[in-house]
This record gives sequence, C-alpha cells and structure tokens, in this order.
Amino acid sequence: MADTFDCQRCPGYCCAYPVIVVTKRDVERIARHLEITPQDAESRYCRAAHGYKRILKRQDDEHFGRICALFDTETRTCTIYKARPATCRDYPGERCGYWDFLTFERDGQQDEDYISTTWHKED
Ligand code: SF4
Ligand code: SF4
Repeated sequence: MADTFDCQRCPGYCCAYPVIVVTKRDVERIARHLEITPQDAESRYCRAAHGYKRILKRQDDEHFGRICALFDTETRTCTIYKARPATCRDYPGERCGYWDFLTFERDGQQDEDYISTTWHKED
C-alpha cells in the first residue's frame, strides 16, 4: 500500500538487514540488468553465510553500520531497483514497522529528515 510507507523518504533500513537471501534466478536478473555475467554478479554481490548458500554482500554505511552492497549510500536508494531480488520486492507487505516508527520519531522531533538507527524489528 503506497500510502502506508514511503521508501523514497526512508534511509533504507530494510536494506541493512544482515541476511538477505537471493536465488540463482535473482542473480541472473541482476546480471542482465548490470550487463555483466551471472558469475560476475555472484562473486561481486553474493556470498555464502549464516547457513545460506547465497546472501547479498554488504558495505559500510554511516547510518546503519553495514548495508547491502547494491545500495547507493549517497542517494539512499537501490542501484538495481527494477531488477532487485524477489525478497526485496515482497518486503514489507502492507505496512512497514520501521516507517511507522520513523514517522512517529520525525513528528516528535519536528524534523522530517531525521534518521533513526535504534528501531528493531520484532519477530
Ligand atoms: S524500511 Fe520500510 S519504508 Fe524504509 S525502504 Fe524499507 S520498506 Fe521502505
Ligand atoms: S538489492 Fe536493493 S532493495 Fe534489495 S537489499 Fe539491496 S539495495 Fe535493498
């Protein structure tokens, strides 16, 4: 639901999740988008970790410590948005808990650019 959260005004909290699992098909789509081989996409952006065969690699981030290697840390957007993995497409469903928390904080602080790094998803 577009009116329940606004990723354009969010610093990309969900892209800072440590484990974002990607499939072979995701890698092939990313490779096509970047015009590189699937092997290159795999070695540049994926690694085996946390018991998974393939998760997205990460890079340093000033706000969240670490964030997806495919995230643009200047514009705070996904560099492969149209070709992003299925798990990124499916998230967050109808509501985003971080966005709810962030807008509450921004209202309270009267600062529409405030970035909160303290919210934790409750599973
Ligand atoms: S944390 Fe929520 S609002 Fe922010 S980019 Fe992710 S889905 Fe969008
Ligand atoms: S692929 Fe894009 S949408 Fe998915 S975690 Fe990385 S930067 Fe975020």
